[in-house]
Amino acid sequence: MQLKYEQSFLRAAKKVQQLTNEKDIEKFPLPIKQVIKEDDGVFLLTYKQTAEINKCTINDVARFGKSNEAFHIQINGMNFIIYNDEMYYKRLRFTLAHEYGHLKLNHSGTSLNHTKTFRDTMRVKLEEYEANTFASCLLFPLNLRYKYRDYMSIPEIADLFQISESAASIAMKILDEHLHNGLEEVISVYEHEQFSTYISYLDELLQDKIEYLQSINEEYTNWFHEEYENYKQEEQDRMYKEVMDFNLIHFTGY
Ligand SMILES: [Zn+2]
Repeated sequence: MQLKYEQSFLRAAKKVQQLTNEKDIEKFPLPIKQVIKEDDGVFLLTYKQTAEINKCTINDVARFGKSNEAFHIQINGMNFIIYNDEMYYKRLRFTLAHEYGHLKLNHSGTSLNHTKTFRDTMRVKLEEYEANTFASCLLFPLNLRYKYRDYMSIPEIADLFQISESAASIAMKILDEHLHNGLEEVISVYEHEQFSTYISYLDELLQDKIEYLQSINEEYTNWFHEEYENYKQEEQDRMYKEVMDFNLIHFTGY
């Protein structure tokens, strides 16, 4: 995984951890609508309700939000998640958690008023990845992935956490990647603080990678500097020799 994506993964996972601690979330499948409704700063509206309020059609709402599923907007400092409640139930849960993630992670999204630059496109891509990670970790927490990994199949996990099989499968693949990178050495099935152990493992892993990249960068800079110094010396020697040869030819008569 690219470093930027790893940083985003950790940022989203930490936000979920913070939320889980604040709200004392223990029940699964997570009642996502209830969690959002209990958040004072966020309001939920269906496409139908939004159409009624604005005296327009559901299609107009979808066109405005550029999505057939859901979008979020801010009006007078209030955050709204507007969603299409006719969506397949498990997908709807993920979509709501995804939009909630955008709000909780203070994403800037795309502005309608300016031309998109390459930087904007990259930022939006990372924000989408972060929102997906947030949704995935909120609905199917990292520590529970670890806990159930040997006991449950993908369809059973999808059923228990009310997520799609593809979401369950991606979540378990990420766990495999973390196990492959040494998670097993720090985490134990018996401990209670699995979530924070998991997060600190991700933190350390990322820190190690950053330090490694910094050291490579330093080495490269040193190498470049040395090469440049060598080059400068060689160039000086060559010029000196040229001048000496010139002197030899022109002033000594040889
Ligand atoms: Zn999104």
